[in-house]
Amino acid sequence: MAKDFDLIIRNSNVVRDNTVIAASIGIANGKIIAVDQDLTGSAKQEINATGLHTFPGLIDIHVHFNDPGRADWEGIPTGSASLAAGGGTTFFDMPLNSSPPVLNAESFDRKVTAATGNSHTDFALWGGLTPNNLDHMEELAARGVIGFKAFMSNSGIDDFSHSDDLTLYRGMMKAKQLNLPIAVHAESDTITSMLTAEAIAAGKLSPTDYLDSRPIVAEVEAVERAIILAEETGCRLHIVHVSNSRSIEQVRRAATRGECDVTCETCPHYLILNRDDVLRLGAAAKCAPPLRTAAENDNLWHDLAAGKIPIIASDHSPSPPGMKTDKNFFKVWGGIAGVQSTLPILLTHDPALPLSIIADVTAMNPAKRFGLSTKGQIAVGMDADLTLVNVAASFELKRENLLDRHKLSPYVGRTFNGIVKQTILRGTTIFANGKITAPPAGRLIKPTDPC
Ligand code: ZN
Repeated sequence: MAKDFDLIIRNSNVVRDNTVIAASIGIANGKIIAVDQDLTGSAKQEINATGLHTFPGLIDIHVHFNDPGRADWEGIPTGSASLAAGGGTTFFDMPLNSSPPVLNAESFDRKVTAATGNSHTDFALWGGLTPNNLDHMEELAARGVIGFKAFMSNSGIDDFSHSDDLTLYRGMMKAKQLNLPIAVHAESDTITSMLTAEAIAAGKLSPTDYLDSRPIVAEVEAVERAIILAEETGCRLHIVHVSNSRSIEQVRRAATRGECDVTCETCPHYLILNRDDVLRLGAAAKCAPPLRTAAENDNLWHDLAAGKIPIIASDHSPSPPGMKTDKNFFKVWGGIAGVQSTLPILLTHDPALPLSIIADVTAMNPAKRFGLSTKGQIAVGMDADLTLVNVAASFELKRENLLDRHKLSPYVGRTFNGIVKQTILRGTTIFANGKITAPPAGRLIKPTDPC
């Protein structure tokens, strides 16, 4: 006899529509076809989710899996497995630090080839914007990039130049025509480069010297400049990895003025790590913009709870351990490896964040902002991208729990709330009880109807 569903998730607490409801979810052909308190009908498979919460699968819009070319830094198989273990079902890969970076159609195709058959989750790709590839933006748009990423300061990678103001201005005009957003790493190159040069010349090479070379004002100044160019061009703008509350306020004010379509993200590490952690952990906690103060952690939690931060992304950016050992802290490769920990970090705070805010910033808002019309919500017609979480349980993060390549997480040894029990991609369980459970079948996702 034909079954009504391929899969039913019974008796779950479903996180949706600004609320949490007790319901069962019916899935067929990879889609959610019913969300109902009293779901009847038969299924090939049933999951009893009593006591668990079902969140929409996380959409991590900012990762560096470095494939092809630098897969020894991370790699799509390991990076996507780690994402799935953290409840994620889609990632947006940055155009660097893969080699070649994604700056034209050919390099886009190479990354799609690297990901196809190797990614455990669905994926979208950022294209790059540099002074050298303005003429390739159109072909990247035609291939299906989610948007264009530019660096206002030095990217750290020789084949990905930073964008001067004119490049940014021209790039935004072009992106506007192509109806795609520009994402910027917003730190002033003038301020950060000159302070870096001064510190190195004076032999001041410690972690504290590094932190002091990238002050908040460098970020605030660049954010304002990017907003001015976006207002001028009408281009949609997204500020990546905002590290401080002043910049959250800049973005919010520009968006409410109505003259600029601008959003931002912050990262879990700016919420729970600060300068003291850089001194304690060293290289594992180096990033740019750098970690700020404990007071800034509090400010960002406050902003998040107040609905002022639309998106949380991991900026997962590992490198081989050998690049993390230099005595000169400026030479240590920057980047924090945290793709697996976003959900537990957001679930571990006093006072607790409403679960619907967590679902909004990790799934619904990323999907809406970047035009993923079939993802990000637990609703009829959507892809069955889900994660089942025991929010009442806590765990200590151990190195052996991590599925990324180098397992250099700054969060090892910390205790978090929220155990991800099972992750489902388009109706197929891809992760359960600590293990990957299906061959990699992630697909390239292209923007459909961005807003
Ligand atoms: Zn990044």
